[in-house]
Amino acid sequence: MKLYSNQDNRHKGGIFMKKRIVKLVSILLAALLLQGCLETKTSDKSENGMPESETVEKSTDADKEETEKEPGKEEKETKAESEASDCLLLVNVNYESNILLAKYSIVVRLDGDEVATLSNGKEYFGSFQVKSGEHELTFEKNGDKDNCNSYVFNVENDCSVFCSLKSHMDHIEITEKNVSAEAVCPEGQHQWEDATCLSPKRCKVCGTTEGEKADHTPGTWQKTKEPTCTEEGEESCVCSVCGETVTRKVDKIPHNVEHWDVVKEPTCTEEGEEKGVCTICGQETTRPVEKIPHDLQDWSVEKEAAFSESGVRVRKCKKCGEVVETEEYDLTEEERLKWLKKNCESGLYDAISRDPDMYKGKYVKFTGTVVQVVSEASGANDCSEYRIATKNGYDKVIFVLIDNYGKSRILEDDKITVYGRCSGLYSYKTVLGAKVTIPLIDVVYYE
Ligand SMILES: [Zn+2]
Ligand SMILES: [Zn+2]
Ligand SMILES: [Zn+2]
Ligand SMILES: [Zn+2]
Repeated sequence: MKLYSNQDNRHKGGIFMKKRIVKLVSILLAALLLQGCLETKTSDKSENGMPESETVEKSTDADKEETEKEPGKEEKETKAESEASDCLLLVNVNYESNILLAKYSIVVRLDGDEVATLSNGKEYFGSFQVKSGEHELTFEKNGDKDNCNSYVFNVENDCSVFCSLKSHMDHIEITEKNVSAEAVCPEGQHQWEDATCLSPKRCKVCGTTEGEKADHTPGTWQKTKEPTCTEEGEESCVCSVCGETVTRKVDKIPHNVEHWDVVKEPTCTEEGEEKGVCTICGQETTRPVEKIPHDLQDWSVEKEAAFSESGVRVRKCKKCGEVVETEEYDLTEEERLKWLKKNCESGLYDAISRDPDMYKGKYVKFTGTVVQVVSEASGANDCSEYRIATKNGYDKVIFVLIDNYGKSRILEDDKITVYGRCSGLYSYKTVLGAKVTIPLIDVVYYE
């Protein structure tokens, strides 16, 4: 049993039962009250389809009702045990102010657990999460278990409440008892029904709602007012869910202009405008005239392409100068060769030897004689390696990598001119063990 904060739920819905008990001083009065409770129960039953005559018979004889009910009651309890619902039980006790009883306090228990101690004239609200089934509220004078008034009631599986008064206590005046319950769902376990135009998304167990109502579900729209070129129209339909009539506006129709005059010519950067007079309403109206297309120049190079780098070229409008088209372009094979011959610098042997890092990636050209075939390419992804003595002298040797797999072999003593990118310096050991460092060229073309 979980105790909620005292007043939170006392005004929430649920089936609410009030029993006014005035001065429980005689057994006779208690019997009448018992009958009152049973009346509530039987009238509920008649709503559920129990024959009216049986209801009347039972409610006229309280003792008989109590006896006859026994077997059915047991059955109900067994059922409740197997599929008990979670219900939120709301309890309201009012200890009516009474000078004679001012010295007593009343201990209130629910199913044996103390939930409140009331002094004269005080009121108590409480809410508890309980399973459906039988529950008992007890009121003890000064906490004396033998001097108590007990109130037994049944919380049904649908969380409605039936009551019966079992005993009473003399001289204690509890003028109002309120007990009701409503279904609760464990956190995050609501059983949602979709939102409709009548209700937001709603839990079919506890009735909790969330979010907004849904839109109406319109049937066929009927025009109730035709739109004109000066006024919106209106149409309506009946919602197939709630039956409400829904209306909405219908857009104006366009003016009917038969002759348009251009008042501003369009350009390639700005729309033009034309105007005309509506033959129906006589109103002068304007409309835009589409821009005219740009007048394109030939392609012009924005960034030159290089041997292994794409360039960028653009087409501009002759009139407004706007760049209308942009594209990348690459050199043709022929242009690449031209580019190499124009851009590869020669005579850099000493410069590279001195500042190799500065020349890394630069396009260079050397002419000379092959002095050694170091290795020959063994596949398409492999390069051949040569040492070439440049024409500046046999002491100025470069190391070159050439991608020539499958082509005519290069032999020692061949005269050769190589074009390519400088890769810095290359070091190797001679047969005699001396370390030699010479420029390294990654060749892209040779002849
Ligand atoms: Zn729920
Ligand atoms: Zn609706
Ligand atoms: Zn018009
Ligand atoms: Zn233009």
